[in-house]
Amino acid sequence: MFLLLSLCLCGLLLRGDAQDRAALWKGNDRGGRCQYTFSVPSPVEASCPQTGGPEVEGLKTRLNLLEVLVSRLTGGQTGGPQGTGAKAQAELQEALNRAVGERNLLRGEKERLEKELEGLQRRMEDMRRETEKLRNKPCPPQTPMVPPSTPLQDSGLMRPAGGSSVMSHLINRPNKQGDSSSLRDSAWQYGPPGFQEMKAEVTEVPAPDSSEDYTGCGVLVSVAEPVTHKKADNIAGKYGVWMQDPEAVPPYGSNMIWRIDTVGSNIRQLFGYEDMDQLSKGFPSKVLLLPESVESTGATLYRGSLYYQRRLSRTLIRYDLASESIAARRDLPHANFHGQAPYSWGGYTDIDLAVDEQGLWAVYSTNKAKGAIVISQLNPHSLEVKKSWETNIRKNSVANSFIICGKLYTVASYTASNTTINYMYDTESSQGKAIAIPFRNKHRYNSMIDYNPSQRKLFAWDNFHIVSYNIRLGRQQAN
Ligand code: CA
Repeated sequence: MFLLLSLCLCGLLLRGDAQDRAALWKGNDRGGRCQYTFSVPSPVEASCPQTGGPEVEGLKTRLNLLEVLVSRLTGGQTGGPQGTGAKAQAELQEALNRAVGERNLLRGEKERLEKELEGLQRRMEDMRRETEKLRNKPCPPQTPMVPPSTPLQDSGLMRPAGGSSVMSHLINRPNKQGDSSSLRDSAWQYGPPGFQEMKAEVTEVPAPDSSEDYTGCGVLVSVAEPVTHKKADNIAGKYGVWMQDPEAVPPYGSNMIWRIDTVGSNIRQLFGYEDMDQLSKGFPSKVLLLPESVESTGATLYRGSLYYQRRLSRTLIRYDLASESIAARRDLPHANFHGQAPYSWGGYTDIDLAVDEQGLWAVYSTNKAKGAIVISQLNPHSLEVKKSWETNIRKNSVANSFIICGKLYTVASYTASNTTINYMYDTESSQGKAIAIPFRNKHRYNSMIDYNPSQRKLFAWDNFHIVSYNIRLGRQQAN
Protein backbone atom coordinates (compact mmCIF):
# COMPACT_ATOMS: atom_id res chain seq x y z
CA MET A 1 0.00 0.00 0.00
CA PHE A 2 2.77 2.38 0.98
CA LEU A 3 4.64 1.46 -2.18
CA LEU A 4 1.60 2.24 -4.40
CA LEU A 5 1.09 5.64 -2.72
CA SER A 6 4.77 6.47 -3.24
CA LEU A 7 4.52 5.61 -6.96
CA CYS A 8 1.42 7.88 -7.49
CA LEU A 9 3.12 10.76 -5.67
CA CYS A 10 6.21 10.31 -7.78
CA GLY A 11 4.09 10.31 -10.99
CA LEU A 12 2.32 13.52 -9.98
CA LEU A 13 5.65 15.19 -9.17
CA LEU A 14 7.06 14.15 -12.55
CA ARG A 15 3.92 15.39 -14.37
CA GLY A 16 4.11 18.69 -12.52
CA ASP A 17 7.73 18.96 -13.58
CA ALA A 18 6.77 18.23 -17.20
CA GLN A 19 3.94 20.76 -17.11
CA ASP A 20 6.41 23.38 -15.93
CA ARG A 21 8.36 22.95 -19.14
CA ALA A 22 5.42 22.50 -21.58
CA ALA A 23 5.14 24.94 -24.49
CA LEU A 24 2.41 26.01 -26.89
CA TRP A 25 3.15 27.40 -30.34
CA LYS A 26 0.76 28.98 -32.78
CA GLY A 27 1.64 29.60 -36.41
CA ASN A 28 0.57 29.16 -40.08
CA ASP A 29 1.43 25.97 -41.86
CA ARG A 30 2.59 25.86 -45.52
CA GLY A 31 -0.98 26.07 -46.75
CA GLY A 32 -1.59 29.24 -44.71
CA ARG A 33 -3.76 27.44 -42.15
CA CYS A 34 -3.38 28.26 -38.46
CA GLN A 35 -1.92 25.41 -36.40
CA TYR A 36 -1.42 24.96 -32.65
CA THR A 37 1.50 22.83 -31.42
CA PHE A 38 1.74 21.67 -27.82
CA SER A 39 5.07 20.09 -26.77
CA VAL A 40 6.01 18.37 -23.56
CA PRO A 41 9.43 16.87 -22.78
CA SER A 42 9.46 13.17 -22.07
CA PRO A 43 9.65 12.57 -18.35
CA VAL A 44 11.83 9.48 -18.79
CA GLU A 45 13.75 9.73 -22.05
CA ALA A 46 16.71 12.04 -22.53
CA SER A 47 16.42 11.71 -26.31
CA CYS A 48 13.99 10.13 -28.79
CA PRO A 49 15.03 6.86 -30.25
CA GLN A 50 15.49 6.90 -34.07
CA THR A 51 15.12 10.71 -34.29
CA GLY A 52 15.50 11.63 -37.92
CA GLY A 53 15.44 7.99 -38.76
CA PRO A 54 13.65 6.37 -41.72
CA GLU A 55 10.22 6.42 -40.03
CA VAL A 56 10.16 10.22 -39.61
CA GLU A 57 11.58 10.71 -43.09
CA GLY A 58 8.84 8.46 -44.46
CA LEU A 59 6.19 10.51 -42.63
CA LYS A 60 7.68 13.74 -44.01
CA THR A 61 7.55 12.39 -47.58
CA ARG A 62 3.95 11.31 -47.18
CA LEU A 63 3.06 14.68 -45.68
CA ASN A 64 4.63 16.47 -48.65
CA LEU A 65 2.68 14.29 -51.07
CA LEU A 66 -0.55 15.08 -49.24
CA GLU A 67 0.23 18.80 -49.34
CA VAL A 68 0.77 18.68 -53.11
CA LEU A 69 -2.51 16.80 -53.58
CA VAL A 70 -4.46 19.26 -51.42
CA SER A 71 -2.86 22.13 -53.28
CA ARG A 72 -3.90 20.70 -56.66
CA LEU A 73 -7.43 19.98 -55.50
CA THR A 74 -7.94 23.52 -54.23
CA GLY A 75 -6.65 24.94 -57.52
CA GLY A 76 -3.32 26.35 -56.27
CA GLN A 77 -0.25 24.89 -57.99
CA THR A 78 2.28 25.92 -55.40
CA GLY A 79 0.23 26.08 -52.24
CA GLY A 80 -1.07 29.64 -52.86
CA PRO A 81 -3.76 31.28 -50.75
CA GLN A 82 -6.74 29.05 -50.21
CA GLY A 83 -9.17 31.81 -51.27
CA THR A 84 -7.92 31.65 -54.88
CA GLY A 85 -8.64 27.95 -55.08
CA ALA A 86 -12.10 28.38 -53.62
CA LYS A 87 -12.89 31.17 -56.07
CA ALA A 88 -11.77 29.10 -59.05
CA GLN A 89 -13.91 26.21 -57.82
CA ALA A 90 -16.95 28.48 -57.47
CA GLU A 91 -16.44 29.77 -61.00
CA LEU A 92 -16.18 26.23 -62.33
CA GLN A 93 -19.37 25.30 -60.50
CA GLU A 94 -21.15 28.33 -61.90
CA ALA A 95 -20.03 27.52 -65.45
CA LEU A 96 -21.22 23.95 -64.95
CA ASN A 97 -24.61 25.13 -63.69
CA ARG A 98 -24.92 27.46 -66.65
CA ALA A 99 -24.06 24.70 -69.09
CA VAL A 100 -26.56 22.33 -67.45
CA GLY A 101 -29.24 25.05 -67.57
CA GLU A 102 -28.64 25.71 -71.25
CA ARG A 103 -28.64 22.00 -71.98
CA ASN A 104 -32.05 21.68 -70.27
CA LEU A 105 -33.42 24.63 -72.23
CA LEU A 106 -32.17 23.14 -75.48
CA ARG A 107 -33.75 19.82 -74.57
CA GLY A 108 -37.07 21.57 -73.99
CA GLU A 109 -36.75 23.37 -77.31
CA LYS A 110 -35.93 20.10 -79.04
CA GLU A 111 -39.02 18.46 -77.55
CA ARG A 112 -41.16 21.36 -78.69
CA LEU A 113 -39.77 21.18 -82.22
CA GLU A 114 -40.29 17.43 -82.33
CA LYS A 115 -43.93 17.87 -81.33
CA GLU A 116 -44.31 20.57 -83.93
CA LEU A 117 -42.80 18.28 -86.55
CA GLU A 118 -45.26 15.54 -85.60
CA GLY A 119 -48.12 18.00 -85.95
CA LEU A 120 -46.89 19.11 -89.36
CA GLN A 121 -46.53 15.53 -90.50
CA ARG A 122 -50.08 14.82 -89.37
CA ARG A 123 -51.34 17.85 -91.23
CA MET A 124 -49.45 16.82 -94.36
CA GLU A 125 -50.99 13.39 -94.17
CA ASP A 126 -54.47 14.93 -93.76
CA MET A 127 -53.81 17.14 -96.76
CA ARG A 128 -52.60 14.23 -98.82
CA ARG A 129 -55.72 12.23 -97.97
CA GLU A 130 -57.94 15.19 -98.71
CA THR A 131 -56.23 15.78 -102.07
CA GLU A 132 -56.72 12.14 -102.90
CA LYS A 133 -60.38 12.35 -101.96
CA LEU A 134 -60.88 15.46 -104.07
CA ARG A 135 -59.17 13.89 -107.06
CA ASN A 136 -61.55 10.96 -106.95
CA LYS A 137 -64.60 13.18 -106.66
CA PRO A 138 -66.52 14.65 -109.64
CA CYS A 139 -66.33 18.46 -109.82
CA PRO A 140 -69.40 20.16 -108.28
CA PRO A 141 -71.29 22.64 -110.45
CA GLN A 142 -69.54 26.01 -110.29
CA THR A 143 -71.63 28.61 -108.53
CA PRO A 144 -69.78 31.85 -107.89
CA MET A 145 -69.91 32.58 -104.18
CA VAL A 146 -68.96 36.19 -104.70
CA PRO A 147 -70.66 38.14 -107.46
CA PRO A 148 -68.08 39.67 -109.80
CA SER A 149 -69.46 43.11 -109.11
CA THR A 150 -68.99 42.76 -105.34
CA PRO A 151 -65.95 44.66 -104.10
CA LEU A 152 -63.34 42.41 -102.50
CA GLN A 153 -63.58 44.04 -99.15
CA ASP A 154 -67.23 43.06 -98.90
CA SER A 155 -66.70 39.45 -99.72
CA GLY A 156 -66.88 38.45 -96.06
CA LEU A 157 -63.87 36.17 -95.92
CA MET A 158 -64.44 35.98 -92.20
CA ARG A 159 -67.82 35.40 -90.77
CA PRO A 160 -69.38 37.05 -87.77
CA ALA A 161 -70.60 35.06 -84.81
CA GLY A 162 -74.06 34.93 -86.39
CA GLY A 163 -72.56 33.49 -89.58
CA SER A 164 -74.67 35.59 -91.93
CA SER A 165 -72.04 36.87 -94.34
CA VAL A 166 -71.18 35.39 -97.72
CA MET A 167 -68.22 33.02 -97.58
CA SER A 168 -65.35 32.62 -99.95
CA HIS A 169 -64.91 29.57 -102.16
CA LEU A 170 -61.35 29.52 -100.87
CA ILE A 171 -62.47 28.38 -97.47
CA ASN A 172 -65.65 26.49 -98.20
CA ARG A 173 -66.64 23.59 -100.32
CA PRO A 174 -69.90 21.63 -100.30
CA ASN A 175 -70.17 18.49 -98.25
CA LYS A 176 -71.34 15.17 -99.62
CA GLN A 177 -75.02 15.78 -99.03
CA GLY A 178 -74.92 19.26 -100.50
CA ASP A 179 -76.22 20.56 -97.18
CA SER A 180 -75.12 24.15 -96.97
CA SER A 181 -75.81 24.43 -93.25
CA SER A 182 -72.65 22.50 -92.38
CA LEU A 183 -70.38 24.11 -94.92
CA ARG A 184 -68.29 25.87 -92.34
CA ASP A 185 -67.55 22.80 -90.28
CA SER A 186 -66.52 20.94 -93.39
CA ALA A 187 -64.16 23.74 -94.30
CA TRP A 188 -62.56 23.78 -90.89
CA GLN A 189 -61.95 20.08 -90.96
CA TYR A 190 -60.50 19.83 -94.43
CA GLY A 191 -59.42 23.27 -95.60
CA PRO A 192 -55.82 23.38 -96.87
CA PRO A 193 -53.49 25.14 -94.40
CA GLY A 194 -52.06 27.31 -97.15
CA PHE A 195 -55.28 29.14 -97.86
CA GLN A 196 -54.44 32.22 -95.81
CA GLU A 197 -51.52 33.01 -98.06
CA MET A 198 -53.71 32.50 -101.12
CA LYS A 199 -56.30 34.89 -99.82
CA ALA A 200 -53.63 37.43 -98.99
CA GLU A 201 -53.09 37.73 -102.72
CA VAL A 202 -56.46 39.43 -103.09
CA THR A 203 -54.91 42.68 -102.04
CA GLU A 204 -57.08 45.20 -100.33
CA VAL A 205 -55.52 47.92 -98.22
CA PRO A 206 -57.46 50.65 -96.45
CA ALA A 207 -57.04 53.99 -98.16
CA PRO A 208 -54.72 56.27 -96.18
CA ASP A 209 -56.40 59.00 -94.25
CA SER A 210 -55.98 62.40 -95.81
CA SER A 211 -54.79 63.87 -92.50
CA GLU A 212 -51.13 63.01 -91.81
CA ASP A 213 -51.44 63.39 -88.05
CA TYR A 214 -54.56 61.37 -87.43
CA THR A 215 -54.42 60.26 -83.81
CA GLY A 216 -57.89 58.87 -83.23
CA CYS A 217 -59.06 55.28 -83.31
CA GLY A 218 -59.23 53.84 -86.77
CA VAL A 219 -58.09 51.18 -89.17
CA LEU A 220 -54.50 50.09 -89.67
CA VAL A 221 -53.00 51.66 -92.77
CA SER A 222 -49.32 50.76 -92.61
CA VAL A 223 -46.58 49.27 -90.43
CA ALA A 224 -43.07 50.73 -90.53
CA GLU A 225 -39.78 48.82 -90.48
CA PRO A 226 -38.97 47.23 -87.09
CA VAL A 227 -36.68 49.04 -84.64
CA THR A 228 -34.46 46.76 -82.50
CA HIS A 229 -34.15 47.68 -78.82
CA LYS A 230 -32.30 44.71 -77.39
CA LYS A 231 -30.84 41.39 -78.40
CA ALA A 232 -31.11 38.64 -75.79
CA ASP A 233 -27.73 37.22 -74.89
CA ASN A 234 -28.55 33.55 -74.32
CA ILE A 235 -30.83 30.76 -75.47
CA ALA A 236 -33.47 31.64 -72.83
CA GLY A 237 -34.22 34.78 -74.83
CA LYS A 238 -34.84 33.15 -78.21
CA TYR A 239 -38.51 33.94 -77.74
CA GLY A 240 -40.50 35.77 -75.12
CA VAL A 241 -42.89 38.61 -74.43
CA TRP A 242 -42.21 42.25 -73.59
CA MET A 243 -44.76 44.78 -72.45
CA GLN A 244 -45.40 48.32 -71.31
CA ASP A 245 -48.51 49.14 -69.31
CA PRO A 246 -50.64 51.53 -71.41
CA GLU A 247 -52.39 52.68 -68.24
CA ALA A 248 -49.65 52.29 -65.62
CA VAL A 249 -50.45 52.72 -61.92
CA PRO A 250 -48.03 53.38 -59.00
CA PRO A 251 -45.59 52.26 -57.83
CA TYR A 252 -44.45 51.76 -61.42
CA GLY A 253 -44.28 54.59 -63.89
CA SER A 254 -45.50 54.59 -67.47
CA ASN A 255 -41.94 54.22 -68.82
CA MET A 256 -41.47 50.89 -67.06
CA ILE A 257 -40.82 48.01 -69.49
CA TRP A 258 -41.50 44.40 -68.50
CA ARG A 259 -40.10 41.28 -70.03
CA ILE A 260 -40.51 37.50 -69.71
CA ASP A 261 -38.13 35.09 -71.45
CA THR A 262 -40.34 32.14 -72.30
CA VAL A 263 -37.90 29.40 -73.30
CA GLY A 264 -38.14 26.52 -70.82
CA SER A 265 -40.89 24.75 -68.91
CA ASN A 266 -41.06 26.66 -65.63
CA ILE A 267 -41.31 30.31 -66.63
CA ARG A 268 -41.83 32.48 -63.56
CA GLN A 269 -39.43 35.41 -63.79
CA LEU A 270 -40.76 38.82 -64.69
CA PHE A 271 -38.05 41.42 -65.28
CA GLY A 272 -38.82 45.12 -64.91
CA TYR A 273 -36.72 47.93 -66.45
CA GLU A 274 -36.98 51.62 -65.55
CA ASP A 275 -37.23 52.59 -69.21
CA MET A 276 -36.31 51.56 -72.73
CA ASP A 277 -32.73 52.70 -72.21
CA GLN A 278 -32.27 50.35 -69.25
CA LEU A 279 -33.86 47.53 -71.23
CA SER A 280 -31.37 48.13 -74.04
CA LYS A 281 -28.51 48.05 -71.54
CA GLY A 282 -29.94 44.93 -69.91
CA PHE A 283 -30.20 46.34 -66.37
CA PRO A 284 -33.46 45.31 -64.70
CA SER A 285 -34.51 47.30 -61.65
CA LYS A 286 -37.03 44.70 -60.53
CA VAL A 287 -37.27 40.94 -60.78
CA LEU A 288 -40.54 39.36 -59.69
CA LEU A 289 -41.06 35.65 -59.18
CA LEU A 290 -44.55 34.76 -60.33
CA PRO A 291 -46.47 32.30 -58.14
CA GLU A 292 -47.63 30.25 -61.15
CA SER A 293 -45.72 29.33 -64.33
CA VAL A 294 -46.41 31.23 -67.53
CA GLU A 295 -47.50 29.48 -70.74
CA SER A 296 -46.03 30.84 -73.95
CA THR A 297 -45.91 34.42 -75.24
CA GLY A 298 -49.50 35.64 -74.82
CA ALA A 299 -49.12 37.72 -71.65
CA THR A 300 -50.04 41.38 -71.43
CA LEU A 301 -50.02 44.30 -68.98
CA TYR A 302 -52.91 46.57 -68.13
CA ARG A 303 -53.67 48.96 -65.26
CA GLY A 304 -50.96 47.66 -62.96
CA SER A 305 -51.62 43.96 -63.52
CA LEU A 306 -49.87 41.29 -65.52
CA TYR A 307 -52.35 39.03 -67.29
CA TYR A 308 -51.17 35.61 -68.34
CA GLN A 309 -52.17 32.03 -69.06
CA ARG A 310 -51.13 29.57 -66.40
CA ARG A 311 -49.00 26.76 -67.76
CA LEU A 312 -50.80 23.59 -68.91
CA SER A 313 -54.25 25.06 -68.34
CA ARG A 314 -56.90 27.40 -69.71
CA THR A 315 -56.66 29.39 -66.49
CA LEU A 316 -56.06 33.11 -66.83
CA ILE A 317 -54.25 34.88 -64.03
CA ARG A 318 -54.27 38.53 -63.05
CA TYR A 319 -51.10 39.24 -61.09
CA ASP A 320 -51.11 42.58 -59.28
CA LEU A 321 -47.69 44.20 -59.63
CA ALA A 322 -48.05 46.48 -56.59
CA SER A 323 -48.93 43.76 -54.05
CA GLU A 324 -46.95 41.11 -55.96
CA SER A 325 -49.78 38.62 -55.63
CA ILE A 326 -52.54 36.98 -57.65
CA ALA A 327 -55.58 39.27 -57.73
CA ALA A 328 -57.86 37.10 -59.87
CA ARG A 329 -57.86 33.75 -61.63
CA ARG A 330 -60.48 32.26 -63.92
CA ASP A 331 -60.75 29.61 -66.59
CA LEU A 332 -61.34 30.92 -70.10
CA PRO A 333 -64.44 28.83 -70.93
CA HIS A 334 -63.80 25.99 -73.40
CA ALA A 335 -60.49 27.51 -74.52
CA ASN A 336 -58.05 25.15 -76.23
CA PHE A 337 -54.64 25.10 -74.60
CA HIS A 338 -51.17 23.54 -74.66
CA GLY A 339 -50.91 22.89 -78.38
CA GLN A 340 -54.57 22.28 -79.26
CA ALA A 341 -54.92 25.53 -81.22
CA PRO A 342 -51.65 27.43 -81.39
CA TYR A 343 -50.55 29.92 -84.01
CA SER A 344 -48.55 28.47 -86.91
CA TRP A 345 -45.36 28.99 -84.90
CA GLY A 346 -46.59 26.46 -82.32
CA GLY A 347 -44.96 27.07 -78.96
CA TYR A 348 -48.26 26.56 -77.06
CA THR A 349 -49.49 29.94 -78.30
CA ASP A 350 -53.08 28.82 -77.78
CA ILE A 351 -54.25 31.78 -75.71
CA ASP A 352 -53.07 35.24 -76.75
CA LEU A 353 -54.05 38.14 -74.53
CA ALA A 354 -54.23 41.64 -75.95
CA VAL A 355 -54.96 45.18 -74.84
CA ASP A 356 -56.25 48.03 -76.94
CA GLU A 357 -58.16 51.29 -76.52
CA GLN A 358 -61.23 49.29 -75.51
CA GLY A 359 -59.63 47.10 -72.83
CA LEU A 360 -58.59 43.50 -72.40
CA TRP A 361 -59.10 40.74 -74.97
CA ALA A 362 -58.33 37.04 -75.38
CA VAL A 363 -57.65 35.47 -78.78
CA TYR A 364 -57.95 31.68 -78.81
CA SER A 365 -60.02 28.77 -80.13
CA THR A 366 -62.41 26.16 -78.78
CA ASN A 367 -63.44 22.64 -79.75
CA LYS A 368 -66.75 24.05 -80.94
CA ALA A 369 -65.00 26.57 -83.18
CA LYS A 370 -62.82 23.74 -84.58
CA GLY A 371 -59.63 25.74 -84.65
CA ALA A 372 -61.14 29.04 -85.82
CA ILE A 373 -60.10 32.13 -83.91
CA VAL A 374 -62.48 33.16 -81.14
CA ILE A 375 -62.17 36.70 -79.75
CA SER A 376 -63.47 37.45 -76.26
CA GLN A 377 -63.54 40.77 -74.49
CA LEU A 378 -62.71 40.26 -70.82
CA ASN A 379 -63.56 42.11 -67.65
CA PRO A 380 -60.07 43.24 -66.60
CA HIS A 381 -60.97 43.03 -62.92
CA SER A 382 -62.62 39.62 -62.70
CA LEU A 383 -61.44 38.05 -66.00
CA GLU A 384 -65.03 37.15 -66.88
CA VAL A 385 -65.93 37.02 -70.56
CA LYS A 386 -68.07 40.01 -71.49
CA LYS A 387 -68.72 39.12 -75.13
CA SER A 388 -67.33 36.70 -77.74
CA TRP A 389 -66.99 36.62 -81.50
CA GLU A 390 -66.20 33.59 -83.65
CA THR A 391 -64.25 34.37 -86.80
CA ASN A 392 -63.52 32.36 -89.91
CA ILE A 393 -59.74 32.58 -89.53
CA ARG A 394 -58.09 29.32 -88.66
CA LYS A 395 -55.73 30.00 -85.80
CA ASN A 396 -52.95 27.63 -86.82
CA SER A 397 -52.77 29.16 -90.29
CA VAL A 398 -51.62 32.56 -89.03
CA ALA A 399 -48.42 33.54 -87.25
CA ASN A 400 -49.83 35.91 -84.63
CA SER A 401 -52.45 38.56 -84.08
CA PHE A 402 -53.04 41.89 -82.35
CA ILE A 403 -56.03 44.09 -81.68
CA ILE A 404 -56.27 47.81 -82.46
CA CYS A 405 -59.44 49.79 -81.73
CA GLY A 406 -61.55 46.62 -81.40
CA LYS A 407 -60.25 45.16 -84.67
CA LEU A 408 -58.25 41.95 -84.81
CA TYR A 409 -55.39 41.79 -87.30
CA THR A 410 -53.57 38.58 -88.21
CA VAL A 411 -50.03 38.22 -89.56
CA ALA A 412 -49.56 35.64 -92.33
CA SER A 413 -46.06 34.32 -91.55
CA TYR A 414 -43.61 34.37 -88.67
CA THR A 415 -40.57 33.41 -90.75
CA ALA A 416 -40.95 35.13 -94.13
CA SER A 417 -38.91 38.28 -93.99
CA ASN A 418 -41.51 40.09 -96.11
CA THR A 419 -45.00 38.97 -95.18
CA THR A 420 -48.40 40.63 -94.80
CA ILE A 421 -51.04 41.43 -92.27
CA ASN A 422 -53.62 39.38 -94.09
CA TYR A 423 -56.91 39.76 -92.20
CA MET A 424 -58.88 42.21 -90.21
CA TYR A 425 -61.92 41.33 -88.14
CA ASP A 426 -64.02 44.16 -86.77
CA THR A 427 -65.80 43.26 -83.53
CA GLU A 428 -68.07 46.27 -83.90
CA SER A 429 -69.62 45.07 -87.14
CA SER A 430 -68.81 41.35 -86.66
CA GLN A 431 -67.37 41.44 -90.18
CA GLY A 432 -64.00 40.36 -91.46
CA LYS A 433 -62.10 40.91 -94.66
CA ALA A 434 -58.84 40.05 -96.37
CA ILE A 435 -56.22 42.76 -96.41
CA ALA A 436 -52.56 42.87 -97.39
CA ILE A 437 -50.51 45.31 -95.36
CA PRO A 438 -46.76 44.66 -95.73
CA PHE A 439 -45.06 43.44 -92.54
CA ARG A 440 -41.39 42.64 -91.93
CA ASN A 441 -40.02 39.74 -89.89
CA LYS A 442 -36.51 41.13 -89.98
CA HIS A 443 -34.98 38.32 -87.92
CA ARG A 444 -37.28 35.65 -89.36
CA TYR A 445 -38.68 34.06 -86.19
CA ASN A 446 -41.39 36.27 -84.79
CA SER A 447 -42.86 34.69 -81.68
CA MET A 448 -44.93 37.53 -80.25
CA ILE A 449 -46.69 40.56 -81.74
CA ASP A 450 -48.89 42.89 -79.68
CA TYR A 451 -50.28 46.36 -80.01
CA ASN A 452 -49.54 49.00 -77.37
CA PRO A 453 -52.26 51.66 -77.41
CA SER A 454 -50.38 54.31 -75.40
CA GLN A 455 -47.22 54.01 -77.49
CA ARG A 456 -49.30 53.44 -80.66
CA LYS A 457 -46.79 50.82 -81.71
CA LEU A 458 -46.56 47.11 -82.28
CA PHE A 459 -44.24 45.30 -79.87
CA ALA A 460 -42.65 42.06 -81.07
CA TRP A 461 -40.04 39.44 -80.17
CA ASP A 462 -38.24 38.29 -83.28
CA ASN A 463 -35.53 35.63 -82.87
CA PHE A 464 -33.73 36.97 -79.74
CA HIS A 465 -34.57 40.56 -80.78
CA ILE A 466 -36.93 42.83 -78.89
CA VAL A 467 -38.38 45.07 -81.59
CA SER A 468 -41.14 47.63 -82.12
CA TYR A 469 -42.94 48.91 -85.19
CA ASN A 470 -44.44 52.33 -85.73
CA ILE A 471 -47.87 52.14 -87.27
CA ARG A 472 -50.25 54.45 -89.08
CA LEU A 473 -53.98 54.43 -88.55
CA GLY A 474 -56.59 55.95 -90.81
CA ARG A 475 -60.20 56.96 -90.36
CA GLN A 476 -62.67 54.12 -90.51
CA GLN A 477 -64.26 53.93 -93.92
CA ALA A 478 -67.97 53.38 -94.23
CA ASN A 479 -68.67 49.84 -95.37
CA1 CA B 1 -50.33 38.75 -79.91
